[in-house]
Amino acid sequence: MDFAIPETTTALLERFRRVMREQVLPLEREFAIHSFKEMLPTLRELRAHVKAEGLWAPQMPKDWGGMGLEFREHALVSEVLGFSPLGHYAFGCQAPDAGNMEILLQYGTDEQKQRWLEPLAAGEIRSCFSMTEPERAGSNPTWLETTAVRHGQDYVINGRKWFTTGADGSTFAIVMAVTNPDAPPYARASQIIVPTDTPGFRHVRRISVMGDEGSDYASHSEIAYENCRVPIANLLGPEGGGFMIAQERLGPGRIHHCMRWLGTCERAFSLMCERAAKREIAPGKPLGTRQTIQEWIADSRAEINAARLMVHHAAWKIDKEGLYAAREEISCVKFYVAGVLCRILDRAVQTHGALGLTDDTPLAALFRHERAARIYDGPDEVHKSVVARRILKQYGLEVGGQGQ
Ligand SMILES: Cc1cc2nc3c(=O)[nH]c(=O)nc-3n(C[C@H](O)[C@H](O)[C@H](O)COP(=O)(O)OP(=O)(O)OC[C@H]3O[C@@H](n4cnc5c(N)ncnc54)[C@H](O)[C@@H]3O)c2cc1C
Repeated sequence: MDFAIPETTTALLERFRRVMREQVLPLEREFAIHSFKEMLPTLRELRAHVKAEGLWAPQMPKDWGGMGLEFREHALVSEVLGFSPLGHYAFGCQAPDAGNMEILLQYGTDEQKQRWLEPLAAGEIRSCFSMTEPERAGSNPTWLETTAVRHGQDYVINGRKWFTTGADGSTFAIVMAVTNPDAPPYARASQIIVPTDTPGFRHVRRISVMGDEGSDYASHSEIAYENCRVPIANLLGPEGGGFMIAQERLGPGRIHHCMRWLGTCERAFSLMCERAAKREIAPGKPLGTRQTIQEWIADSRAEINAARLMVHHAAWKIDKEGLYAAREEISCVKFYVAGVLCRILDRAVQTHGALGLTDDTPLAALFRHERAARIYDGPDEVHKSVVARRILKQYGLEVGGQGQ
């Protein structure tokens, strides 16, 4: 087994690291003080710089203005970008736009691609993904209340969604709604493009999450769909194919999150080590002389290394054998890396003491935002259940999934 990274990839990673070091990290102080919306002009300039460097949209094909990186190369790049909460946005590969681009690329009609994908891939507009509902368990996405009923040449959408990330400032949403209520659970919903200026698309509120309602891309919204009428031509993929498309999107999406989290882990780890080396708890006695801190450092190093190997192995399996074959690996990395991330952030905050809770370091913001890692794109317990059920099947025990 060869763990070496090819020279061309190493050189490419260094180009990303340089822009991160010189252009992205210096903006973090401003980001801690100002809202995302206030930062937009600065971020626009940053994105122009990234494009001029030829590093825009690493995950998108070259025909669409991206770099056309392979999945495993993108994994390495994504870790570099995950070092800062601004990294993925700056380089045009932030969730949920990256996932929406993938869906549009694969299932969009020519007209949909021209109208939505072109400006999205260029970073001229943003989009959101509207699936989770306040009144239904998001961990069982086959059980939705929102409906899209055909009236002539239109769908009329009714329902309520929440945690639609980045809806504030988005040009369109991709909405999951039930179009075929009598079909089997996995074939009931469809994905439909809804421009956010459509009458009946009502932005209810930016939800206050961990004490912060955020703004623009850095926010999560509640949306009411009230007789919201869009043409049938806005259907993405086949009618009733919403869940199937969501699965295709969420598989790579989960790995993308894990790749980003590795970068976030490295950031928290380096801050923890710096603090342990410099903060004296008595004259001449830095924190790092204490065994508990040493144990946190050693455990964190081992956990990040293990997490990285699991992520790269899952990405390799997706490349070689496809998403379906890699389901178990994807579920394992999703809960394992999310757990490592939360533990390392907690240790890093603890090592900083009161300073760790202030916004003088990026740790408090990372801690607030990344707690969600164990919940979105499938809570830990659901992924663990997927893995355990597949294993138990090999021992003759068939256990039903969510909702059975
Ligand atoms: C920051 C953030 C961003 C998000 N962005 C989006 C977005 O852009 N678009 C979107 O549509 N949604 C988004 N979501 C919603 C997310 O996908 C859901 O929160 C997630 O699917 C869980 O659904 P739920 O919150 O309804 O929890 P529930 O389904 O009610 O589950 C609650 C808890 O029950 C436990 N549980 C669930 N199932 C099982 C089981 N089988 N066995 C044991 N325990 C179980 C888990 O601990 C789980 O956390 C986001 C969420 C967060 C926090």
